[in-house]
Amino acid sequence: MSTVSSAIEYWGRGRVRLAGREWRTLVSAVRLGGDSYRVIRPARPITHASLHEGRLGAQLSVDKAATVDLAFAWWLAARSPRSLVYLPLRSSGSSCGEEYGGRKLDLVLLHHSLRFPVSRWKRVRAHLSPSATHKVTLPPRAFRTVGREEHRRCFHRGFQDHLRWTIAADTLFLVGSRHAYELQGDGVRALAEDCPAHLAESPDTHCCAEIEMGRCKAPFPDARDPYSQLHVECCNLHW
Ligand SMILES: [Zn+2]
Ligand SMILES: [Zn+2]
Repeated sequence: MSTVSSAIEYWGRGRVRLAGREWRTLVSAVRLGGDSYRVIRPARPITHASLHEGRLGAQLSVDKAATVDLAFAWWLAARSPRSLVYLPLRSSGSSCGEEYGGRKLDLVLLHHSLRFPVSRWKRVRAHLSPSATHKVTLPPRAFRTVGREEHRRCFHRGFQDHLRWTIAADTLFLVGSRHAYELQGDGVRALAEDCPAHLAESPDTHCCAEIEMGRCKAPFPDARDPYSQLHVECCNLHW
C-alpha cells in the first residue's frame, strides 16, 4: 500500500467533522447604567479547559470535547459583533497547565467595535441571569481558508486586524474584528478536526494551536498591545 493511500485511510478513521455539530448556549442581556451587554456562554460546563497566564502569554490546556467548545466560541465571536462570548474556564475541574505558574483565567472573545470597557466585566459577570438555551449549528466550511497573501498583509505597517488582548478581573479578553478571528481560525479548527487523528496515531504527540495576540512583528513595538501568544495545547493525559 502506498504511503498516500494509507495516510488517507488513517485520516478517514480519526477525522472529526465540525460541520453539522450543535452547541447549546445561554444568552443573557445585562443592563449596566444606560448600556446593555449581550453575553453568550455554553449551556454545559466545559470540564477540561484550563487557562493560565504564562511566561509567553497564556496557556490553555484542552481535552477533545473542549476543542469543539473553543471552535464554536471562536466561530460565534467572529460573527457576533454585538456580543461577548464568555467561556467560564476557572470553574473547569482541570488543573492541567498550572505548571506555567500564572493565575487561572476565564476567556472572553469580543469585537473591538463593541468598545467594551473591560473594567465593567466583573459587574456584567455578576449579573448574568438564568436564561433560555439557544442551539447553534456549525455550517460546512465554517472556518474559511486564509491565503498566503492575506497572511502577508498582517506585516504591513497600517494593518489593524490583529487580535488585541488584555487581562482584567481574572479574564483574558481577546478583542478583534471578524477578519482578525478568521486569520487565526484555522488553528482553532485544526485542533478540533485534525488533532484527534494525530493523537489516535501517537498519543504523546504535542498538538497545539499558537494563536497570535497583539501586534506581530510591527516595525515599531506597540507598548500598549505587545505581541504575545495564546498556546492552546491538547492534554495528552486526559485526551
Ligand atoms: Zn505547542
Ligand atoms: Zn489534562
